[in-house]
Amino acid sequence: MKNNLWMFSVLIKHFPMYVIGFMFNKILMALPAYISNVLFLNVVINHLISHKPVYILLIYLVGLLAFLILVDIYNGCFVHIWQPRANEKIKKMFYNNFKNAVSRFEISVYDDPDYYDNITYISQNIFNDSIAALSYICDIIAGIINIILILNLFATIGIGLLLISSGSVIFSLLLNIPIAKLKNSHRFKTNQINRKKQYFFNTFFDRNTFKERKMTPVSLLLGKYYDESNLELQNCYKKYGRKLFLLNFASEAFSSSFLMNFGLIAFLLYGVFISNTIEGGDFIAAYNGTNVITSTVMQIIGVFALMKNNAFTIEKYRKLVAFTQLAISSCENSDFEVNKIELRNVSFKYPGTNRMVLRNINLTLQKGDKVAIVGKNGSGKSTLINLLMGFYWPTDGEIFVNEQLLKKTDCETYRRQFAAFFQEMKPFEATAAENVALDTSIDTDKLTQVLQQTCCSSLMNDPENVWIGKNLNTQGLILSGGEYQKLMLAYCLYSKQAIVVMDEPSSALDPISERNFYDQVSKFLDGKMIIFVTHRLSTVHMAKYIFVLEDGKLIEEGTHSQLIKQDGLYKRMWDIQYKKYGKENG
Ligand code: ADP
Repeated sequence: MKNNLWMFSVLIKHFPMYVIGFMFNKILMALPAYISNVLFLNVVINHLISHKPVYILLIYLVGLLAFLILVDIYNGCFVHIWQPRANEKIKKMFYNNFKNAVSRFEISVYDDPDYYDNITYISQNIFNDSIAALSYICDIIAGIINIILILNLFATIGIGLLLISSGSVIFSLLLNIPIAKLKNSHRFKTNQINRKKQYFFNTFFDRNTFKERKMTPVSLLLGKYYDESNLELQNCYKKYGRKLFLLNFASEAFSSSFLMNFGLIAFLLYGVFISNTIEGGDFIAAYNGTNVITSTVMQIIGVFALMKNNAFTIEKYRKLVAFTQLAISSCENSDFEVNKIELRNVSFKYPGTNRMVLRNINLTLQKGDKVAIVGKNGSGKSTLINLLMGFYWPTDGEIFVNEQLLKKTDCETYRRQFAAFFQEMKPFEATAAENVALDTSIDTDKLTQVLQQTCCSSLMNDPENVWIGKNLNTQGLILSGGEYQKLMLAYCLYSKQAIVVMDEPSSALDPISERNFYDQVSKFLDGKMIIFVTHRLSTVHMAKYIFVLEDGKLIEEGTHSQLIKQDGLYKRMWDIQYKKYGKENG
């Protein structure tokens, strides 16, 4: 109830007219049950018994018809015209809040499958469950109005009616609580399995997996996992389905069929024929009235039980929103320019794992430095970058920025000092200009300049109208790996950030383009702090200083010529690569 009321207050604050319209519609839709089945019937039967003129009856009838038509018109307008538009506005509010929250998440949440389960669960259910909250609260209000209108029947016909209807209500209440709980856990479980199933299903359509699917039998593997999750889902439905059937059957059979129909008719017949306490004319009105009142009370009770369902989603959503507000407030007023970054005795293991992938790292970077981090695959280069950029937090040791200890609350601002491109980055489905700016506002002059500097202008002479990607636009360009790397260099040149990080930035470039690439880096990024990560040493000597990692440890550091003299790992890597590339490429 608490969560539903919270959601109700959010909706009424942002969409007051919609909530009023919604509530009015609910009340109107609930009234005909009382007006036509109880009030009108009562009036007609009493009228017939007392032999009043027929035209009065006709006036009542026309009045009832007019009322029902007006209710239908209002309901039609609300459901088909006003509600769909308002729904989109509500979805937009959720989307914005959701987007804000997700943008505050740290990368570590992506290492946790629970994160995906929660996030997909909230995103898929929050809209429907918020409207459900509104609907439930309106149902309760409309139901109470209906009950008050019919309550006088109990006063005239007696306590027996009250016992029968309250008996079936209590029975239904007792069964509705476990039903709601069961549905809840079922919904979460199926969401989990569906996410898995969806992943394997989507992979069949993913452009990135096309070649593997054509060349290898990987589709069989994906199919196998898809079938397994499908089976898991079927078993889940089977298990929950049986329990739900039994509980629902008990609820329906005993409360509505047995108690309400059999018990009520028997009680009324007894009153009319044996004890003579009920008038013949009141029989139908009493029967219908008790049915309306009981089903309304049951509906209200059902609503309380259903509220547990959507409260589950709303509570998760509330936590998400609260988290965003906390993150926003803690990031306020923290602004600084990075001149020096220092890692002191930093060790790190990924969340949920036991192996230290970085051990006792000490290094200092200053404004204007050009450094390279080199090492074999898996030595910890990307992890070190993740820590340097504040994406992960050291397990041991500290990071100092401008001689100050870096705090988690400063991270958002700190990370905005970086322009980086990583191997796993992909172009967005957007224009070329937007892919360079990675922003909504674009400085056209600067854009033209950087595209010329990075030799991208030959590829796209109208970057603001050239679309990248083919998912949404058949005329879109598919960039080669090298072209995309050039575009990302354009992004680094375009951005105002003081630190540039490049992870294997030239891996897809031919030797001539690679040479140009580093010339452009030296020429146009001068004065910025540049960190690049590579295991290819053919170009690394352009860095002023080199850090060598092996198995998570910083084993060597120095300039290219110092490291060559040391006869360590760097020298060995250099010799091997020089023999391989050096002789071929000159
Ligand atoms: P490099 O960039 O030098 O190739 P990485 O920094 O990517 O190496 O990886 C270092 C080690 O950390 C590897 O053993 C890798 O398997 C592990 N690793 C990388 N990312 C994660 C992660 N998100 N969770 C767990 N282990 C990871």
